[in-house]
Amino acid sequence: MNDISTLLSYDKQHIWHPYTSATTPLPVYPVKSAKGVWIELMDDRKLVDGMSSWWAAIHGYNHPVLNEAIHKQTGQMAHIMFGGLTHEPAVALTKKLVEITPSSLDWVFFSDSGSVAVEVALKMALQYWHARGNTHKCKFATIRNGYYGDTWHTMSVCDPGTGMHTIWKGRLNVQHFAEQPQCRFGGDWDPESFTSMKNLLMENHQEIAAVVLEPIVQGAGGMWFYHPQYLKELRKLCDELDILLICDEIATGFGRTGELFACHHAQVSPDILCLGKALTGGYMSFAATLTSKKVAETISSQAPGVFMHGPTFMGNPLACAVANASLQLLLDSDWKLRIRSLETQLREELEEARHLNAVQDVRVLGAIGVIEMKAPVDMAKVQAQFVKKGVWIRPFGKLIYTMPPFIMEKEQLSKLTQAMVEVAREG
Ligand SMILES: *Cc1c(COP(=O)(O)O)cnc(C)c1O
Repeated sequence: MNDISTLLSYDKQHIWHPYTSATTPLPVYPVKSAKGVWIELMDDRKLVDGMSSWWAAIHGYNHPVLNEAIHKQTGQMAHIMFGGLTHEPAVALTKKLVEITPSSLDWVFFSDSGSVAVEVALKMALQYWHARGNTHKCKFATIRNGYYGDTWHTMSVCDPGTGMHTIWKGRLNVQHFAEQPQCRFGGDWDPESFTSMKNLLMENHQEIAAVVLEPIVQGAGGMWFYHPQYLKELRKLCDELDILLICDEIATGFGRTGELFACHHAQVSPDILCLGKALTGGYMSFAATLTSKKVAETISSQAPGVFMHGPTFMGNPLACAVANASLQLLLDSDWKLRIRSLETQLREELEEARHLNAVQDVRVLGAIGVIEMKAPVDMAKVQAQFVKKGVWIRPFGKLIYTMPPFIMEKEQLSKLTQAMVEVAREG
């Protein structure tokens, strides 16, 4: 099994990777270990990590403080059921989350993954209206080009074009989609950007339980950064029309956009907030759904009198312990300055790509750098080019992008941006 080609051949015949085919799988690279910003492949090649394992590994890999938190907690208990029991790591983490998230959020529901955190958020919204005796509000509104996960109800709010609406037509719930906000982050506010959402909510508010969206940065649905004023307008209108606001900060949370949470760019407080990905510094699958006292108490005030959800691994102590350590690392660091310096460097170094023939757009926000191509890239080919250049960048569709670990040093980031510009040029 330690022979690389035997391993790869078994993998190819038996293992699903994210969004892959069993009959024509794309190549995968066997990784031996990872430390700091480096990924070491089994053939001893070392790659600078530009992905943070999908927004998650903000402190880099194999971090001594996070390792220690896991070891220590393993000596106490790796897991214990959360029904009827509680523990210090969960209480400490809850305290921290309530403290650092927008002020209205007081109640925390822990779950295993981002998709489940969004499912829980949607269910909370529906159960809230159920408790208020409103049987009409059972749909959701969102914006196009969103991504909220792969479970059944989250799929229904993902982008109707690139999401799974076509194959599941007739089976998937039908939701309301407003146009993607066109007004860019950092540009002038254009009220026209909000018209589509405004009209949609004015016409359909009686059946809309909640608006769900990714604040400021749309991630997997297109890596798009929009104007904070959009969120302000949305918060105001949701209040006027009695609609809940759900913000999915699974990708944007914990400093990535330059603020601790993307909602802070607009000083907006959602009714429900979803967190995941970087919550544990990329160590374990874990997520949280936060809500206000009002929503929590309303749900609990009517039959069945409880919130109807409770995963087996809810509040897992190992995950809570490593999340506590990761949050402490972040908050004790000069994260804001760090992100700003990554942002400045990304801006300077990716700018070169803007005028290339094949490039549509270059955009940077916080520790996120994006080169949007005019045409979709050949993933397998481009992936191989990046590995050859000694970096780990995984494009999708027309997007070549990076969200590096926050600890990345200047020369390492230059290696990433250089490779991105070169690939965009060759593309
Ligand atoms: C990744 C992601 C999810 C889904 O999280 P999983 O842990 O993959 O289930 C949901 N929403 C956003 C914004 C994400 O980036």
